[in-house]
Amino acid sequence: MSDEYFKIAGGYVYDPRNGIDGQVRDLWIQGGKIVAPPSDPEVRATRVIDASGLVVMPGGIDMHCHIAGPKVNAARKMRPEEKRKAEPIRRTAITHSGTLGSVPSTFATGYKYAGLGYTTAFDAAVPPLAARHTHEEFDDTPCLDKGFYVLMGNNHYVMKAIKEQAPQKLDAFVAWLLGAAKGYACKLVNPGGVENWKQHASGNVHSLDEKVDHFDVTPRQIIRELARSVDQLRIPHAVHIHCNNLGLPGNWTTTHETMRALEGHRGHLTHIQFHSYGGGDVDEDTFSSKVAPLAEYINQNPNLTVDVVQVIFGETTSMTGDGPLGYYLHNVYGTKWFSADTEMESGCGIAPIKYRNKSLIHALQWAIGLEWYLMVQDPWRVVMSTDHPNGGSFLAYPQIIRLLMDRAYRQETLKEVHPAVLQRSQLADLDREYTLQEIAIITRAGPARILGLENKGHLGVGADADITIYTPHENKELMFELPRFVIKSGRILVEQGEICEVIQGKTLHVGPDYDREIETEISSWFEDNYSIRFRNYPVAESYLHDAEKIPVRKDL
Ligand SMILES: [Zn+2]
Repeated sequence: MSDEYFKIAGGYVYDPRNGIDGQVRDLWIQGGKIVAPPSDPEVRATRVIDASGLVVMPGGIDMHCHIAGPKVNAARKMRPEEKRKAEPIRRTAITHSGTLGSVPSTFATGYKYAGLGYTTAFDAAVPPLAARHTHEEFDDTPCLDKGFYVLMGNNHYVMKAIKEQAPQKLDAFVAWLLGAAKGYACKLVNPGGVENWKQHASGNVHSLDEKVDHFDVTPRQIIRELARSVDQLRIPHAVHIHCNNLGLPGNWTTTHETMRALEGHRGHLTHIQFHSYGGGDVDEDTFSSKVAPLAEYINQNPNLTVDVVQVIFGETTSMTGDGPLGYYLHNVYGTKWFSADTEMESGCGIAPIKYRNKSLIHALQWAIGLEWYLMVQDPWRVVMSTDHPNGGSFLAYPQIIRLLMDRAYRQETLKEVHPAVLQRSQLADLDREYTLQEIAIITRAGPARILGLENKGHLGVGADADITIYTPHENKELMFELPRFVIKSGRILVEQGEICEVIQGKTLHVGPDYDREIETEISSWFEDNYSIRFRNYPVAESYLHDAEKIPVRKDL
């Protein structure tokens, strides 16, 4: 590592974790990390960015997106019509060519995230059987540190261990599986429902207490036991939950029950907007927002965090580990549909969709997303997301920031959507405007804390030198869509929208300790059931080009 200093001088620094709220500060960087200013006043930085008048924040962290793995790749192949129309990414002396559309190609994904000031991203749903493929795609997704969440909510061994009431076995399996996949966190997707989808026609579960075919366990047990296990293992990130009944009118009661089913364990409820609906029986006339009671529950329970999935009007591609949901969306939109099951592990559904601002349902979804940002009191527990590409592209983040920071703009946009939203949501009455510091929390500092990433989301000594520098502008969408500089691991990757250096980025993963004796039992179960050999399943550390193992939590 170089011992030369790089200095970012005199910017307005927004570093919420360290209590710096727009004060003018210098940042010193050495060897890719933020360091203390050199004690010898004679020491000069080799490189200096004059940031006076500019806004300096940690690099953005997207904690829930879909950027790699088999379903993302299937979606790329499924949307040639989109790729044909989209602006091409042309190769340069240092960058590869690529394609855009709602599911950009790997290299384009890395460049576009970096161009937006994001330096870390997590794919939220990978079947562990596809871990190796996902790591290979990560190798082709530059400029970002990356990790993925491992699908476990319909895993056969998980359900078997829960049925046998063998918590120690479950803990060991969860730790083994994360280590084998080199994954980052435990993900639940429609726990139990996907397994039923795989077992019988139109199968699903509709409440937390329905039985899963052949396993004699319920979604409630899966949620509680995996949350307990993740806490027991002190995994950096809580269990990451895509609740049952996504998208259905009246599903807010399922979401509320899921929060209660955690019984005080940590839990992150993802794309919460899709799970906050009143009404019943597929009746458009009753569809409404139930953010208020759910946000109140979040406000009261510090063990819980959420990300939102803001819906963006326009065309996109829905992709989910929730097999029955893919089928449901295909029926709603009448579009093409892809479904795939992964043997002992999970399912998947993909369908193109279009959000229209004159549709009551879509306009309500849009309003419900904004209500979530505005009704959760503590910005450290709500995270910005579009569940890229499910609610829309990550490229819409600057637009969402403007909607949160600029009440007048929000009210204007509200006038353009279906008028019934005014009666069915409270959005028109919410006056709150986010500050720059709060934006820095919901896009950087908050996700870093929720993910247990000690060296990210802040600019204190020891942090990774992932930094975004913006030119202030009254129009926050313009400000955030074209950062002045984007710095990753102490290197300037982007200057005024132009990629000037490409680095590969690290793979972030976990490997909690477990009782190794369990491997004998897992291997015999594995050989009886899987289509591949047990010894070919784990991804070796040496397979990852540049990796960082994030230690377990000490604060649990
Ligand atoms: Zn997702």
